[in-house]
Amino acid sequence: MADKTEITVDEFISAIDDVKAYLLFLQSIGCDGVDCLSENVNKVAGWKMGGIKKRDSLEKISDDLTGCMRCGLGAFRKNIVFGEGSCSAELMFVGEGPGSEEDKTGVPFVGLSGKLLTKIISAMNFTRESVYICNIVKCRPENNRNPLPEEMKICMPYLKRQIQVIKPKVICTLGAVAAKALLQTTKPISNLRGHFCDYNGIKVMPTFHPAYLLRNQEKKALVWDDMKKIMKYLKT
Ligand code: SF4
Repeated sequence: MADKTEITVDEFISAIDDVKAYLLFLQSIGCDGVDCLSENVNKVAGWKMGGIKKRDSLEKISDDLTGCMRCGLGAFRKNIVFGEGSCSAELMFVGEGPGSEEDKTGVPFVGLSGKLLTKIISAMNFTRESVYICNIVKCRPENNRNPLPEEMKICMPYLKRQIQVIKPKVICTLGAVAAKALLQTTKPISNLRGHFCDYNGIKVMPTFHPAYLLRNQEKKALVWDDMKKIMKYLKT
């Protein structure tokens, strides 16, 4: 169980700001004493510098995933496919899970659908290195089946941490499974696609999965419409 006295660096900085604002307030009303309410004193006395958690990073999240067997997918994978790209990317692509090529190489979206995604990224005037690409689950579901809700639930905290570290302006989810899992919705992709949604204050654009586009070439124009909306928003 987490130590209740543990605080993050951000919480610590925020607490210092609160103290500063409170002292300024006391000064403004002519008070020159010290706030010794036992409630406040006990709270501060409980803080331990050793308990301040280090700022999270992609390296730390990746380390935490080493050898992960938290869900059943761990038993079948060759490689954990963590994700790749810029740790400060404005645009993040999230698919549902690695396929066979990704499992072999440990790199996301390198198979046929990955090549199409790379083309889309280039057409948007980005590179794979300037965006961030990852999946909801980091291990390949056998026979390319969809990840199970339980598997996504167990792996999701790692994606959430990746998003928290990267802080993208836009997340583009690829395919129905990724959109529904991230947005916690049961709406069909045909309804979600093309409309900005919200994930903790970050714009999310659900679009079709490149693998679906390979089978349905006529849908490419719709996906390009979605990408144009993303490009327009990123310019604001
Ligand atoms: S899919 Fe995620 S939770 Fe499951 S074993 Fe792989 S890394 Fe761990």
